[in-house]
Amino acid sequence: MQDLTTTTILEFLNKEGLPLAGVSPIEPLLTDKRYEENIKTICPDAKCVVVFANIFPQSILEACPDNARPARFALHGLYAEGDGYCLKVARLLEKHGYRGVIIPAYLPVEMSYDTLGFKGDLNLKKAAAEAGLGSRGKSDLLITKDYGPRVRLFGVITDADLEPTLKIEEDYCTNCNICIKSCPSGALSESGCDVKKCSQFAMKHGLPNILNFIKCFESESSREGIIKKLRSLQVWDFWQALSQGSFYECFMCIKVCPVGKIKFKNK
Ligand code: SF4
Ligand code: SF4
Repeated sequence: MQDLTTTTILEFLNKEGLPLAGVSPIEPLLTDKRYEENIKTICPDAKCVVVFANIFPQSILEACPDNARPARFALHGLYAEGDGYCLKVARLLEKHGYRGVIIPAYLPVEMSYDTLGFKGDLNLKKAAAEAGLGSRGKSDLLITKDYGPRVRLFGVITDADLEPTLKIEEDYCTNCNICIKSCPSGALSESGCDVKKCSQFAMKHGLPNILNFIKCFESESSREGIIKKLRSLQVWDFWQALSQGSFYECFMCIKVCPVGKIKFKNK
């Protein structure tokens, strides 16, 4: 069997309908002790990360923020589809005798008081920028030339010594500041993204707000009051988010970025 090369992997991903893919060396991604420890545990002889972007269809963002349900549904699909491609890449690597360890693109993440559940096993945005898929924008998202920030990123760590793809010099962010002005939580500013502010707002039915909801029972002593709270629409929304696993409800910074926007034929 012919040895595996970067070209073989990129051709494979292109055939799967993934035009944005590359290979990042592992060293630039080990930016702190935690990432170093993670890699030692999950793939001790890691050489690089195969990273690719799954494209977010722009149309489903149009109804946001009034109705984020199509976007939430599509996001769930994007992750599921991307996970499938990761499995295929891992199998391709293994077929050639190399390890292929999938980095969770969404959940699970490490739950610790240090990371507060905000950090993945590796920084996929950095991996994608190192592999030349795009540049980091003011929204702190990866901005790609053809799709702007409307992508979701996936990565597979491997001990195969693949040739890295070239990092791009170009900055695709035009510094228009539209993302900063449109962010409804004020999480975006010239100094970057305040992830705590963003998540409190964007994950209205995520853990911090579930805990806040539970806390409200401390002040409730009557049986009727407790039942009323348990029957509130907020609980319906918690149930929906938990059963589908779709916690992101804000897509503004993805929606408004003008980079790579499609001009649809009909208004
Ligand atoms: S997801 Fe929403 S709240 Fe978070 S940074 Fe983007 S626009 Fe702001
Ligand atoms: S909206 Fe403008 S400033 Fe924000 S990431 Fe896109 S191009 Fe950059």
